[in-house]
Amino acid sequence: MVLPVHGHYDHALDAPFIAAWAETEIADLSDDSDDGRGTSLEEIINASKIHFDKIGYDLNWGAVRRDRWFDSNKDTIATRNFRDFKITLVRTKHNENPSLSLIENWPFEKETFPLSVLNMRAGASVSVHIEHRGKTMLIVPTSGKIKTEFCAEELKADVLFLGVGGLGFQLDEEVQAYWHNTVGVTQASRVFPIHWDDNKTKIQKNTGENDPVNLNPPIYDAHNRTLRIFDELVADAETEKPTNHCQFVRKRKRLTAAEHQSSGNPEIKFSPLFVKFDPFIKLR
Ligand SMILES: [Zn+2]
Repeated sequence: MVLPVHGHYDHALDAPFIAAWAETEIADLSDDSDDGRGTSLEEIINASKIHFDKIGYDLNWGAVRRDRWFDSNKDTIATRNFRDFKITLVRTKHNENPSLSLIENWPFEKETFPLSVLNMRAGASVSVHIEHRGKTMLIVPTSGKIKTEFCAEELKADVLFLGVGGLGFQLDEEVQAYWHNTVGVTQASRVFPIHWDDNKTKIQKNTGENDPVNLNPPIYDAHNRTLRIFDELVADAETEKPTNHCQFVRKRKRLTAAEHQSSGNPEIKFSPLFVKFDPFIKLR
């Protein structure tokens, strides 16, 4: 199953190609309230088929089935069982950075395929919770304003892949609230920051074992600041315990190193690039 989490090029551009290559279904996030302002997934699949046929790819497009998850824009959560995975999509807001308003207001040229980056609008935006053999993970692909979206008990997660793109210029309080409403309420033990690399440059080819592919952060974000705030949150203890796990607690105290060891606070890690890895390994 291919799950494009919203319509921007860095999340959805290759989704039909990947679905055809893997001969699998693709999640359709449109619903009955769709105003037709954008391009439908069906149109994007058809255009992708024409494009890849033309440049000589032999793919099984017949296997690409659209699977619609939401009936109405009032549906905020949807769950499916897929083999032995339980997958839940949770509607979450996109980060409100300047490139978002540029793309949303760019004149739309529906007839042009392949679409320009500026014509790939966000559309519906979701986060993904995955449960598999007793382990849970949550992927929050974009750092939009999160309130109580993840408060449900069944959305707790061992591991959180946390989008940080666009967070670097937000207020300290906003970054702290984002952390609390994702990492805090899901009670994640491990956090992998994601969406921090510069997706406007080409990825260089890896030519051998000693030549790893590098990704670099962009100049238009302030990831150091985001990480500093995250590090401070991890080093703190909440001095007032909330009555339920969704309540925001603001009073904090810095832990000593010894206290931190036994605090159960989450750890922040970076995933290795372009290799398979186990995000749950040696989880506390
Ligand atoms: Zn986006």
